[in-house]
Amino acid sequence: MPEMPEIQAHAERLTADFAGATLQRFVPLTFTALKTAVPSPDAAYGLPLEEVGRRGKYLLLRFQPVTFVVHLMQGGRLLVDTKQAAKPRGGQARFLFAGTVPALLLTEQGTERRAGIWCVARGDEQTSAPLDKLGPEAATIEPAELAARFEATNMRVHGFLRDQRCIAGIGRRLANEVLHRAKVSPFAMTRKLGADGADAIVAAIREAVAEGLEYERSRDDMSSSKDRPGRVHGRTGEPCPVCGDTVRAVTYSGYTVNYCPTCQTDGKVLADNTTSKFLK
Ligand SMILES: [Zn+2]
Repeated sequence: MPEMPEIQAHAERLTADFAGATLQRFVPLTFTALKTAVPSPDAAYGLPLEEVGRRGKYLLLRFQPVTFVVHLMQGGRLLVDTKQAAKPRGGQARFLFAGTVPALLLTEQGTERRAGIWCVARGDEQTSAPLDKLGPEAATIEPAELAARFEATNMRVHGFLRDQRCIAGIGRRLANEVLHRAKVSPFAMTRKLGADGADAIVAAIREAVAEGLEYERSRDDMSSSKDRPGRVHGRTGEPCPVCGDTVRAVTYSGYTVNYCPTCQTDGKVLADNTTSKFLK
């Protein structure tokens, strides 16, 4: 799933290419693509796209009266669409612009069909669904605030980092990379991390996000997950680039926690299933 660096760099590319383009029409291509009934997308017809912003893992297409909040989920993409095929593969919705500006097409490959668009009043952007439930931005959170949130919600830190209500913008890949950089076990409980843990994790978030942004900004399009820079994510069995120990995995349905035992768990290898005594 694209995370904060991928979404941020994509928002910057779209702003560079589409800011000022006049919206002609918004066309849902499936019944589930548009998640809201009010306000109507046509409030933005004839008006220029001011910018494409970001909050958490959402893209925000901002027109003066309304913002289109776009969530790509796992396999979604917001693509420049020069062809405008009648039935584009995986097509969910299309933004048509006036003149010779190409369209923007929201696609979602696979069968999940969870990508979508919310049309919200511009002034209510942050207080309307789906953005109203998001925690603070991962890239700018301060250590004291993260420490307070760790204290308030006691759970495994890997799950905390992936929960958008706790902190917004981090997914499975960044959670693995951040905890490796911070030298914190993915299964540590947040309440035990204290101020030092929060300090280390904030520093690690900033480093991992900066690395991801630098890579993503060097591209013309959004990367796929296998291309993204990293030290442990998706590297089960490879040597840890910090200490040389073997990168390990604990696999859940749908995702994998990667970690380095020497760097993160005092050398303990966690059993690769969720019923291990160690994990309870
Ligand atoms: Zn290591």
